[in-house]
Amino acid sequence: MRDLLIIGSGPAGMSAFIYAKRANLDVLVAEKEFLGTGQIAESLQVDNYIGLVGKSGYELGEAFRQDAEKFGAEFYEGKALKITQKNAFWVTEFDNGESVESKAVIYAAGASHKRLHIPGEDKFLGNGVSFCALCDGALYQNKTVAVVGGGDTALDDALYLSDIAAKVYLIHRRTEFRGAQKNILKVKKKTNIETVLAVNVTGINGDSRIEAITLDNGNKITVDGVFIAIGMAPQTDVLGDIVEIDDYGYVIADETGITKAPGLFAAGDVRTKKLRQVITAASDGANAAISAIEYLKSSECI
Ligand SMILES: Cc1cc2nc3c(=O)[nH]c(=O)nc-3n(C[C@H](O)[C@H](O)[C@H](O)COP(=O)(O)OP(=O)(O)OC[C@H]3O[C@@H](n4cnc5c(N)ncnc54)[C@H](O)[C@@H]3O)c2cc1C
Repeated sequence: MRDLLIIGSGPAGMSAFIYAKRANLDVLVAEKEFLGTGQIAESLQVDNYIGLVGKSGYELGEAFRQDAEKFGAEFYEGKALKITQKNAFWVTEFDNGESVESKAVIYAAGASHKRLHIPGEDKFLGNGVSFCALCDGALYQNKTVAVVGGGDTALDDALYLSDIAAKVYLIHRRTEFRGAQKNILKVKKKTNIETVLAVNVTGINGDSRIEAITLDNGNKITVDGVFIAIGMAPQTDVLGDIVEIDDYGYVIADETGITKAPGLFAAGDVRTKKLRQVITAASDGANAAISAIEYLKSSECI
């Protein structure tokens, strides 16, 4: 029986590991894909993580993993399928048929961006196709970009990019935006944002870099970059109904990581919060570890 199982080894999971390990907990970190790095490994360059600006996402993730290894990080490679509570401890079942028992769990499984699933999306991911205007917007100084989506994130992204790029096309498949009225009005006032409604983007074209996007009305728009903002899919199926989940699928928890289920904590992109970035995920991990340590002490598990 472990003191703590951390599910997910992104910045939230790795930072939780370091805090928990330094408090002498017996910790195991489970990961299904990006061992010790999390999804930031997919980013070409990270320009907003203080102290390490300009590193590639892979280098940053590797630095997280190597630092965790200095503290003896022990990884369990597998996909968590189900978490259940048994008496005063937790049982996590994995896709290889094994299960891990622990006195507490920090769930740090992140959230993935919803994709368009169109030709060119995978080819240009990280090289013209982005899910993060805040991260990659600066690359499009005086260029032309498209933002795809109709909610507040898409509107915010278009507004943010309109102060950097020469021209922003905001493309939405419906006839009206779903975002807040105040954001819609702000977008309308921006002379360099052109809204394109009731169309779907069907392809992202180019050889070594993006040259244009094609739409299902037959039109083609010349762009240098495409920002996809059609929502996030938090990885919360594993939790069933043991915690509270909001309307968008995120675990309801504040920065302490405390959930409705005593002994199960949530950290990083998977929880309800305003900003989903490496820096906020790392601080979540630290906070959740402290909450887990306090829980284990107060329930006399350690
Ligand atoms: C292409 C790209 C570029 C980005 N650029 C930036 C940037 O420039 N700056 C910035 O601050 N942020 C950026 N982000 C966002 C940043 O990566 C996330 O905010 C951050 O990684 C969240 O950390 P996390 O630990 O919460 O989750 P993640 O990093 O998503 O880690 C969660 C981990 O859990 C694992 N996992 C999920 N489900 C299970 C399961 N059932 N069992 C076992 N393991 C599981 C996943 O494989 C993953 O490794 C970018 C994201 C992407 C995709």
